[in-house]
Amino acid sequence: MDDLKLYAPHAAGLRRLLDITCDFSSRIRMRLGVDKCAVLHVERGSIVSSDRLPVSDGINLRALSEGETYRYLGMSQNLGIDVAVVKQAACDLFYERLTKVCKSLLSGVNKTRAFNGWAMPVLLYTFGVLRWTQTELDALDRKVRSIMTLHRMLHPKSSVMRLYIPRKCGGRGLLSAKVMHNSGVCSLREYFLSRADSVMHREVMECDKGLTPLALARDGWQSPAVLSTSDREAIWKGKELHGRFFQALHEPHVDKEASVHWLRFGDLFGETEGFVCAIQDQVIRTNNYRKHILRDGTADICRLCRRPGESLRHVTSGCSMLANTEYLHRHNQAARILHQELALKYGLIEQRLPYYKYQPDAVLENDRAKLYWDRPIITDRTILANKPDIVLMDQTESRVFLVDITIPYDENLRMSLLCAQ
Ligand SMILES: [Zn+2]
Repeated sequence: MDDLKLYAPHAAGLRRLLDITCDFSSRIRMRLGVDKCAVLHVERGSIVSSDRLPVSDGINLRALSEGETYRYLGMSQNLGIDVAVVKQAACDLFYERLTKVCKSLLSGVNKTRAFNGWAMPVLLYTFGVLRWTQTELDALDRKVRSIMTLHRMLHPKSSVMRLYIPRKCGGRGLLSAKVMHNSGVCSLREYFLSRADSVMHREVMECDKGLTPLALARDGWQSPAVLSTSDREAIWKGKELHGRFFQALHEPHVDKEASVHWLRFGDLFGETEGFVCAIQDQVIRTNNYRKHILRDGTADICRLCRRPGESLRHVTSGCSMLANTEYLHRHNQAARILHQELALKYGLIEQRLPYYKYQPDAVLENDRAKLYWDRPIITDRTILANKPDIVLMDQTESRVFLVDITIPYDENLRMSLLCAQ
């Protein structure tokens, strides 16, 4: 038992109910939190002032007057609930918590968890009790996004729908106030309607001719639209620009689970995560984006190599000016991670270093294996490409692995696969 309300037709009746409650409480070794209790006397619909109500020797319950409120299930109330005041208080606390989450040093995925598990429940309490319009809920969600943008966690041109799609499906797993409200209200109403066999539930339903947002006594109730995950995915997919990443993610040769692994288990900052998502959504202001999406008359020429077509594809894996610097660096970083894992696996090194500090030795050797890093292999016939990134010789199994790393753009992945086959 958490919060309790007692209703009685007159003061003497309330006295009796209170005696039963006190008696029961003391038998189960619980005490009334007297400082949180209050009494309200109503005559013909209006509040009348009254004396304090004695509970036991010397302890009295305070009486509520017209302007006072007390908290019941987290909401300030008197004879009814002052919807505007309670809503404003809930919103203030909600935004305060969101801002705290955004300012924290948590990783991107943990910020989302904190928002869903700590900020959103502030509003969840009120759904089904306070009346929220769809416009108000849209405004709430919009403000959440603008606060995220303010803290650099969301690119203003990024996909909105992707934000509300679970991380395992490639989204960012944020709860939307509108979706939570609509599904909450629908399931609460269904619950009451399914309990028509209980007298208490039936009484409540008969009274509610528009008292609550559920309007339980009303037949022609219009249930608000609830978007399922697949509905949201369909909207994401349908977007001309944002939908491209969705399409790429669902290509038959793409391992979707591995491709979204970083969203679920990565420890990137919220800012980095937002930036990577913006790149995937293809909303970065490249000259290609400016020419074809913004249509501001920019010539679509790469600012580095001066060749036509400064698309994201060109920047991330097609620019000749970046090939020998940035791409090579990225390639080496990826190869080093693999090298360190192999060296650890075969006991060639003992300690794991952060990948950016790890410097592979040209040759590592013990009685189990030999591991070469970027070393030419002498062959009988001359082979030009005789320098694999990594060569592993498993001495115990008498097997040699030649490892070559490539980091292709997702559209080139299929070609690399074909080449490998
Ligand atoms: Zn270029």
